[in-house]
Amino acid sequence: MINCNFHLNVDGFWQCNREGCQWIYPIKSDKPPRRNCPAAEKLGIKGSGDHLHDLIKQIVGEGPMAGCGCRNRIMQMNLWGVVGCREHMEVIVDWLLSEATKRGWKSARWFGARAAVKVLVRWAIRRAERAEIGSIAETGSHP
Ligand SMILES: [Zn+2]
Repeated sequence: MINCNFHLNVDGFWQCNREGCQWIYPIKSDKPPRRNCPAAEKLGIKGSGDHLHDLIKQIVGEGPMAGCGCRNRIMQMNLWGVVGCREHMEVIVDWLLSEATKRGWKSARWFGARAAVKVLVRWAIRRAERAEIGSIAETGSHP
């Protein structure tokens, strides 16, 4: 699940700028609403949680296991989006460290583990952010 990529349109309403969605929030508000974007999946857009999962798999060769709760966390990160993930950075880092400890990874007890995990999370968020910007550029090129 990826949220709509809202921007304010000329009428002052929040509108998703993804091709195939373009949904308009019918109420004026300061903050964009959260909405599962139906176009995101079709366009193959990944959220911060998906990118973090890919990075971890690349680096340690392990993905979520059955019943570990990682799937829910990936979904929660995707729902938060780029901005929400930055706000919840400490929570995400705690998740990863506790999961690594549970799996018995010795590196989780290394004094620099927290900082290293943070770098990884930031990296994943930036990837998601770049993908969002890319999708805006693509949408813009179609009249
Ligand atoms: Zn949308």
